[in-house]
Amino acid sequence: MYQDLVKKAFIGLYPDREFTHTARISYSAKFHDYNANVKFTRSSLHFNLSSKWRAVSEEIQIGLLQNLLNRVFRTKIRTQYIELYYLFLKNIEIAAPKLHNDQYLEIIFNKLNEKYFFGLLEKPNLKWHNARNRLGSYAFGSDTISISRKLLDGRHQLVEYVMYHEMLHKKLKFSGERHHTSEFRRLERKFDDAAGLEKELGRLVSNQSKRRIFQALFWE
Ligand SMILES: [Zn+2]
Repeated sequence: MYQDLVKKAFIGLYPDREFTHTARISYSAKFHDYNANVKFTRSSLHFNLSSKWRAVSEEIQIGLLQNLLNRVFRTKIRTQYIELYYLFLKNIEIAAPKLHNDQYLEIIFNKLNEKYFFGLLEKPNLKWHNARNRLGSYAFGSDTISISRKLLDGRHQLVEYVMYHEMLHKKLKFSGERHHTSEFRRLERKFDDAAGLEKELGRLVSNQSKRRIFQALFWE
């Protein structure tokens, strides 16, 4: 059945291509909220979905799979299923409970929101984390920006710069399917002294591993 779901998603996206991959879907409780990822080789596709997806309709799951297939095959095709998936996510974001609010991060968020986003970005959950190799992240399902405490070792602008980066993920989540598009990088460079801060971040964290896994709803 899962093979069928992947095949349906694939053919809906690429009606002229032959589907020759072996495909698998696993549902797992280890994910944040509605996150998912795909691991792939030339001949296989393995989708891991948060167990919350089990209860979601097949059409919306196809939208999720197609969204990930777009990333695997470097295409940007929009389908009805993908539109449906985005609608579903928007509803989740609105419904996500706002439980985390750190005052320091909130001040920074508000300042950057005024300066770079015309005050239009809605405030997500804001929290710190202790992971040393992940400077910041934006988790869609819970609408949470998380910032590494390690940044407090550097100058104050580093926290702002990483916050800005995660705010861009929140803003652009529906426009670009890829992680850091050229549009993303263009906007990122608008930050005051982006180049200098980028260098400092590089010194603070080194050798981040590059994995061939795409996550649907979690951006670093
Ligand atoms: Zn990022």
